Amino acid sequence: MGEACAVSNPDSTLITGIGELVTNDGDQGVYAAIADAALVIAGGRVAWTGPASRAPAADTAADAGGRAVLPGFVDSHAHLVFAGERSAEFAARMDGRPYRAGGILVTVKATRAASDAVLRANLRRLAAEMLRQGTTTFECKSGYGLTVPDEARGLALAAEVTPEVTYLGAHVVPPEFTADPAGYVDLVCGPMLAACAPSARWVDVFCEDGAFGADEAAAVLAAGRAAGLGARVHAGQLRPGPGVRVAAEAGAASADHCTFLTDADVDALVTTPVVATLLPGVEFSCRQPYPQARRLLDAGATVALATDCNPGSCFTSSMPFCIALAVREMRMSTSEAVWAATAGGARALRRTDVGHLGAGARADLIMLDAPSHAYLAYRPGVPQIAAVWQAGRLVAGSVPQLAGS
Ligand SMILES: [Zn+2]
Repeated sequence: MGEACAVSNPDSTLITGIGELVTNDGDQGVYAAIADAALVIAGGRVAWTGPASRAPAADTAADAGGRAVLPGFVDSHAHLVFAGERSAEFAARMDGRPYRAGGILVTVKATRAASDAVLRANLRRLAAEMLRQGTTTFECKSGYGLTVPDEARGLALAAEVTPEVTYLGAHVVPPEFTADPAGYVDLVCGPMLAACAPSARWVDVFCEDGAFGADEAAAVLAAGRAAGLGARVHAGQLRPGPGVRVAAEAGAASADHCTFLTDADVDALVTTPVVATLLPGVEFSCRQPYPQARRLLDAGATVALATDCNPGSCFTSSMPFCIALAVREMRMSTSEAVWAATAGGARALRRTDVGHLGAGARADLIMLDAPSHAYLAYRPGVPQIAAVWQAGRLVAGSVPQLAGS
C-alpha cells in the first residue's frame, strides 16, 4: 500500500521519529498524544497518524529525531490593526506611577492618523511574528478606528491576513460621542455595521463598566447576528459584570477574559457552548490577579487560551508564553494548557479543521526543539519552535530530510 499511496499522493510527506505527537483527537476531542509516532500529510491535510513502526510510505520523508509535534496554536483573541505603541505607559504602570496620557484612545488617535500602508505593515509584521512562534490560526479584531471608514478599513486589512475577522466597533465610546453614548451604539449597530459586516465573520463588544453595559452589548450582538456575524464578548476583565450572561443569552462562541466570575457565570459557561477564553498575558502585563482556570476546568467549562495581543494591556503574540503562564500561575496541567491553546482556541472560533491532528484536519502543525509538549512551560521564554507547517506547507524553520527521500 505504501508505494500506491506515494503514487496517488504525489505531494505526500511522512514525518517520522516523532517523540510525542499531540493529536487532540481522542473521544470528544480531548487531549491525546502518541509516543514514538509518525504522521503523513497529503493534499494539505493530515492523512494518517500512528506509531512510527506502522507508518505508510510517502513521496518525501522527514525525521523529527525524537522531537514533539503538536497542532499549530489557535490564537482566538488578538487586536492587531493599530499604529503606534505604548511602552512608556507600560513602564509607568510597572513603576506604580500614574500615566495620564495612556489608554485605548491613544492608539485610536494614532490608528486614525496612520496610512493604510503603515497599518498593513504593522499587521503583517505581527502576523509573521505569530507564525514563527507556532500560531497557524489567529483571530483579529478592529476597534482602534471607531469611525465608519476607519473600522471598515481596519477589517478589510485584517481580512488580508486571516479569515477570523472580528468587528469591534464597540470597543470604547470615542471622544466625539462622550456626550451621546447612545448615539454611538446606534452608529455601531447601523451604518458602521453595514460597512464592516462584508469583511467580518464575528462581532465583539467590550462589556464592562466604562465601556458598554448589558443592554448596549446585547443590542450590538443582536445587530451583528442580523448581519450574519457570530458573537464574541469581552467579559469580566476588570470586575464581575454582565458580560458572561450577555454572551450566553446571545449564543456567543466565546466569553473572553473571564477574570472575574460569579457562580452564575461559571454555571452559564458549563451549561452553554460558550467557551471561556482566558488571556493571562493581560494579567501579567497589568500585574493583576489571574483568572481562576481551575474553578472553570473543575466545573466542566471549555477553556481556551489566547494572547489578546494589543499595544496597551498585553503586547505579546506568544502562545508558548501564555501556556507557561497558565501552567505556572493558573495551575493548569501542561496538557490542559496545550489543549486550550490549540483545540480550545478552535472551539472558541467554532472551527473543526484546526486545533487537532486527526485524519482530515488541516495540516497545521509545529515541531518543538524538545521531546514533549511540557517543555513549553518547563522552559519558559526559550524559543523552541523548530518548524511550522501551514496547510501542509513548511512555512517556518526546517526539519532534516531522511536520506534517499
Ligand atoms: Zn481584547
